[in-house]
Amino acid sequence: MSDPYTDVQLIDKKGLRLDGRKLDELRPIKIEVGVLKRADGSCYLEWGENKVIVGVYGPREVHPRHMQNPMRGIVQARYNMVSFSVSERKRPGPDRRSSEISKLLSEALEHVVLTDRFPRTTVDVYIEVVQASAGTRCAGLTAASVALADAGIPMRDLIASVASGKVGDKLVLDLGQKEDNFGQADVPFAMVGRTGEVVLLQMDGHLTIEEFDTIMEMNRKASLEVYEIQKAALQDRYSSFTEEGEAEPDAPEEEKKDEKKEKKSSPPPKADKEPKDAKESKEPKDAKKPEDAKKPKEPKDAKESKEPKDAKKPEEPKEPKDAKEEPKAKGEKAPVPEEMVEEAIPEKDDKGPAGGDE
Ligand code: UDP
Repeated sequence: MSDPYTDVQLIDKKGLRLDGRKLDELRPIKIEVGVLKRADGSCYLEWGENKVIVGVYGPREVHPRHMQNPMRGIVQARYNMVSFSVSERKRPGPDRRSSEISKLLSEALEHVVLTDRFPRTTVDVYIEVVQASAGTRCAGLTAASVALADAGIPMRDLIASVASGKVGDKLVLDLGQKEDNFGQADVPFAMVGRTGEVVLLQMDGHLTIEEFDTIMEMNRKASLEVYEIQKAALQDRYSSFTEEGEAEPDAPEEEKKDEKKEKKSSPPPKADKEPKDAKESKEPKDAKKPEDAKKPKEPKDAKESKEPKDAKKPEEPKEPKDAKEEPKAKGEKAPVPEEMVEEAIPEKDDKGPAGGDE
């Protein structure tokens, strides 16, 4: 059946689509968790011919400061399609489309991230589409929620996303590139896996109410499939964790042994992030220790608690970060002793109220 608006044959006589899929069939999805060592959390996702990589950084202090919310953190997703991701070179940098998608994805993610656990901070989610073939916002959102989970960001649940639409007068699940380009309607959708809450819904084209209802049902059902794939990827990643932390899957046996030794004398991987961020903001700690959430409120101005520290030791911020990352990678550098980190925190708290502006 050819599309009424073009001569493109999108569905054949057997009811199969250009890539051989049935009308209600998803493209193959592959998710890999924790692919970037320098990011706090990461995910690589292949969805048909889409390839997306997501890196999460944070929680960290919000800059500019006027964007800080004293009651909660914010999630800033940045969706970007790289120049070589599409057939015609895409001009690098943000454009209207990517800004819109970034905003939508940030809002969707804020529905599941427990932002009240880390006030005044931001969690940055970098979504890089390295190969695009329709449905990239859904692929990006699906990967982003997995990467957030990998970063240890407290969340209610994962978000699963998919886009369906109308092609050659038929309702089809998970539009492919040509179906997206030449189809009659496109409905990107995302929902919270467990509760079914819809956190993203867009529509491009025309549908009757009945068609729309059917598409919503198709999207819901498929999102549950995506949700299972997300969970399986996370389980796959974390089933290799021991009490001592992560067992490096690719590291040679000797390296693994060395690493274990290092890890015994250093905090577990997730704790690594706390000291790193401690210099930028105390809130990241809150993500792991909600009871600390009150601490930042005392020194009313985060400024007082941080500036004196920075003024004394301008180089200090770099050191804990590097030192903490290394044990995660190969353990080449000595980790910062925990006492140092702990000392730094009371110091800030002491100074806050004493040197308060107010
Ligand atoms: N696309 C492109 N150049 C662009 C934007 C999009 O070639 O500047 C392609 C890309 O393959 C994308 C598809 O068109 O996946 C559909 O784009 P849309 O805006 O519908 O977003 P998506 O379906 O990827 O979420």
